[in-house]
Amino acid sequence: MKKLIFATHNANKVKEVRNQLIGTYEILGLNDIGFHEEIIEDKKTIVENSIAKVRFVKERTGYDCFADDTGLEVNALNGRPGVFSKRFAGQNASSDDNINKLLHMLKGKQDRSAQFKTVISLFNNGEIQTFEGICKGNIGFKRSGNFGFGYDPIFIPENKNISFGQMSLEEKNKIAHRARAVNKLIGYLTNLY
Ligand code: IMP
Repeated sequence: MKKLIFATHNANKVKEVRNQLIGTYEILGLNDIGFHEEIIEDKKTIVENSIAKVRFVKERTGYDCFADDTGLEVNALNGRPGVFSKRFAGQNASSDDNINKLLHMLKGKQDRSAQFKTVISLFNNGEIQTFEGICKGNIGFKRSGNFGFGYDPIFIPENKNISFGQMSLEEKNKIAHRARAVNKLIGYLTNLY
């Protein structure tokens, strides 16, 4: 089976993409290849952060790889937290802290519409390509479910009445932002080889 290096230390992301690509590609996260250096995410856009991740890992390891950067864009907050989703409630904020802050800021707001945006970058044979995946939905009034990670317990995808936190990996991967970007990545690789 072909191997792809996913330039992330996030075990939840690796699990998700591994599950999506069962039987087609073997996904190796950075922990699997013994790369433990922290990747700095200090850019102003999701696409720039995504590209910075693959450049950094390629430079340090020599391996071609792909990376994702994801943000939750809330309409009533003019697209925030967006690129700052990870550190929304502060530098070392937990997902719980970030959710609390978001729910607090949305108190009393009618419009709870939002979208997850993922940009995947691929460093392959000296070139970088990017692939975008979007999932539209709404922010719930409280947490629901224990599956997934990050903002999953408060994100209810369009045309569903349960949150990502209440969905199995398989269910989430049918509609989610990262899965959509991964599908584009795989389409590109399939045409290439
Ligand atoms: P990053 O792409 O690792 O920078 O993620 C930014 C923030 O969004 C982190 O707080 C993640 O936990 C969160 N996040 C990323 N992907 C997802 C997802 O699929 N569901 C819920 N939260 C996510």
